[in-house]
Amino acid sequence: MSEAEVRAPYPFRAYAWQQSLWQSLEELLVQQRLPHALLLSGADGLGKERFAKAFAARLLCHQPRDGVACGQCKSCSLLAAGTHPDLMWLTTLTDEKTGKTAKAIRVDQVRELVGFAEKSAQMGGWRVVVLSPAHLLNVQAANALLKTLEEPGRDTALMLLTSQPLSLAPTLRSRCQQRPLPIPAEADALAWLVPQVGDEQKARLLLALSRGAPLAALALREAEWFSQREPLLKDLMQLTQQRQTALVTAQRWHSLGAESLLVALLSLLDDLVVAASGAATVVKHRDLAPIIERMSAHFQPAALLRFRQGLADRQRLLAGNVQGNALIDATFSDWVALTSR
Ligand SMILES: [Zn+2]
Repeated sequence: MSEAEVRAPYPFRAYAWQQSLWQSLEELLVQQRLPHALLLSGADGLGKERFAKAFAARLLCHQPRDGVACGQCKSCSLLAAGTHPDLMWLTTLTDEKTGKTAKAIRVDQVRELVGFAEKSAQMGGWRVVVLSPAHLLNVQAANALLKTLEEPGRDTALMLLTSQPLSLAPTLRSRCQQRPLPIPAEADALAWLVPQVGDEQKARLLLALSRGAPLAALALREAEWFSQREPLLKDLMQLTQQRQTALVTAQRWHSLGAESLLVALLSLLDDLVVAASGAATVVKHRDLAPIIERMSAHFQPAALLRFRQGLADRQRLLAGNVQGNALIDATFSDWVALTSR
């Protein structure tokens, strides 16, 4: 979680587009049939954390109203203060000195969780454990969790959050009840997004580029690559027309960083492929549609798809220890090679 999220007021309610999921769990809770382990899955930006926070509050609240935490009782106050003794939120650790986040959730963290789940609640009622992102449990940690998932303590609820449910060990998945987070209808997403973006057209663009995930769309507005799409496309065009060299162009993009550049190029390539296939009316970068259409005329869809595959491969390399600038240089060289074929 970012610092801003930590400092934000505690969210006692889920997002409007999560109401049907909320309702189905609420019914199970009332019937005392709530599964002890839930796997909440869905793309980043759909609001998994917010849902888990609000539902944890619902479980822990002493006087819920209409199936929602009251926001005022002792339990809700402790949640708001971040000091509730019956809630445990487990995520990857961040090194205080370097600021780097660990790549996995480790077994010693899970052992702490197991100890927590075995004790009885300090305030009576539920004990809640949220584990996020669950696909970052390493093998040892996942194994250490199995028994607790099977037989958690009485009135213990576990919520595992993940954007990659298929990356979870089958032994973990089979012990949870999986509940996918809904992708909101466009109108519902816009109802939330437009007031924050202040411009309906821009909100639609952000949402389309984020595959309908509202929080991802809002974050995209601040992403540096989003504002750099047009100059990037223009540079690609210059290269296509052999008006500048790959090396000079690549150096201009070193400052953006390889990770952001690849995300930007992948997003633009999706549209270039679509346009080269003759479907220019459905490009997602609506504001850049004319440039995309002009440029796509220079390429066969298959060639663009090959280049796109190369970008995806590089994205995987980047997770290792590959030098970012070298990767940027190679990417622009590949583009020129594609052009001169
Ligand atoms: Zn309450």
